[in-house]
Amino acid sequence: MFLPFVVLWLSLSLVASGIEVVASHARHEDAFQTDARIIHRLLSQRAVQHEAILATLALLQPGGQNAAEQAAQRLPAVYSQILRVERWMTAAPRDGRLPVALAAAAAESQRQRHAVLTAIDASAGHYWLVLAARPASYALEIDIHSMVPWDEWPLPRQDSPVRVVLQLDDQEIVVSPGVVHEGGALVQRLSFSKTIAADSQPFTVAVSRQLGWRSLPWGRLVLWWLGCAALCGLLAWLQVQRRARQRAEEMLRFGQIARLNTLGELAAGLAHELNQPLAAVSANAQAASRLLNSEPPDLDTARYAMTQAVGQARRAAEVLSRLRRAIERPGLAERMEPVNLYAAVRNVLALLQAETDRLGLKPALDGDAVLQVQADPVALEQIIHNLLINALQAMADTPVPARRLALQIEAEDSVARLTIADGGPGIPPEALPHLFEPFFSTKENGLGLGLSLCETLATGMGGRIDAANLAEGGAAFCLTLPLVIRERN
Ligand code: ADP
Repeated sequence: MFLPFVVLWLSLSLVASGIEVVASHARHEDAFQTDARIIHRLLSQRAVQHEAILATLALLQPGGQNAAEQAAQRLPAVYSQILRVERWMTAAPRDGRLPVALAAAAAESQRQRHAVLTAIDASAGHYWLVLAARPASYALEIDIHSMVPWDEWPLPRQDSPVRVVLQLDDQEIVVSPGVVHEGGALVQRLSFSKTIAADSQPFTVAVSRQLGWRSLPWGRLVLWWLGCAALCGLLAWLQVQRRARQRAEEMLRFGQIARLNTLGELAAGLAHELNQPLAAVSANAQAASRLLNSEPPDLDTARYAMTQAVGQARRAAEVLSRLRRAIERPGLAERMEPVNLYAAVRNVLALLQAETDRLGLKPALDGDAVLQVQADPVALEQIIHNLLINALQAMADTPVPARRLALQIEAEDSVARLTIADGGPGIPPEALPHLFEPFFSTKENGLGLGLSLCETLATGMGGRIDAANLAEGGAAFCLTLPLVIRERN
């Protein structure tokens, strides 16, 4: 019964989790792209700064060789990323001290008319930037790690989950290694790649981040799951309440129908019983009237009284017969329709579940579940209800292990049969011929109208009811009704 709500909970949780995870990924992506753009801008600014420093050194030369040399020597103290500054006369580059690559780079710089990058040492994170000028050329040895302006850097200095590398051709210098600490398996990979905005140092800034399971918004997901569970729990509770209300209403309806039918039976029985004596009173009164006519004293009064008596008796008889006509169950045949016998039995068993539970009984319903009988659904359930109530009442004093209730549905030719067998004491042999008579009861407070009503209803629907004792003990009542379809053969 609760399975649909569990499925609903799972589906809702799944949809909500999906939306939440997508939103969380979008948030991560946004934040990541913003940080990556800042990183690219900061590194580009530094690269441009290096170009500017070289250009300034070249410009200072006409002011005096000493000024340029002094400025060059002071640079490492001012800019931490500048490790060394080299200066050599462009006309005589064969200075033994100089790294060989610088002379070649100076020639390239002369051709390109801007600074050029050379001698990348990826493991140390160093590279040289060379600008050919006259009379002297300059080269800066730059440490990439010191190039990072940590005060403006958008990532933590230690253990940042974001990896930042500078790539040039097939070389790669790691600026920030990026720690994957967000859970084991990868659920999302974020990446950004853009070339530094300085022609002399055309590094590609590659920023990446791997998001693992731990990066998922678990807190919000758990809240969603709990919220969905609460909603489904509420729906399930409402459903249980609704079912209980329906059951109570149905019980009430059954009770009302039972009462109405019992009243009908009562009136029918009364009418039947009273009609005969009234007819006799009428006949006797007529005879007395004739006798009085032959004997004088106060003949007129006697005649008048007896005539009155006759008139009253007739009226009483008429009233009773009118009453009987009025309570004859009208239109049972009009309400007949195909009814699934198995489903009708299940409905009534469900209504009586509290009773069967109380007796510790597990009703065994067996037989054809698709048989359809031609019946009035309400009358049919009423019959089954009465027969079951009788069976349960019969077993009230039976020891628990001997209690049993077996319901069997079967079809034969053009009829369907429902047999209700119980494990009670059975029907006393002397009671068997009178079971279906109105007001026959062996119970202390019994009205004795239940079986009579059942028979009337069954006959009205073209069926009948039989009762018998079982060889193994207990009674069996068999309801036979006209069959509509038998789908299985
Ligand atoms: P009530 O239940 O008011 O006595 P019913 O017409 O339903 O009226 O039943 C008439 C009688 O039939 C019962 O008093 C009882 O003696 C007998 N009877 C009905 N069902 C059973 C049964 N399952 N086992 C034994 N006796 C039964």
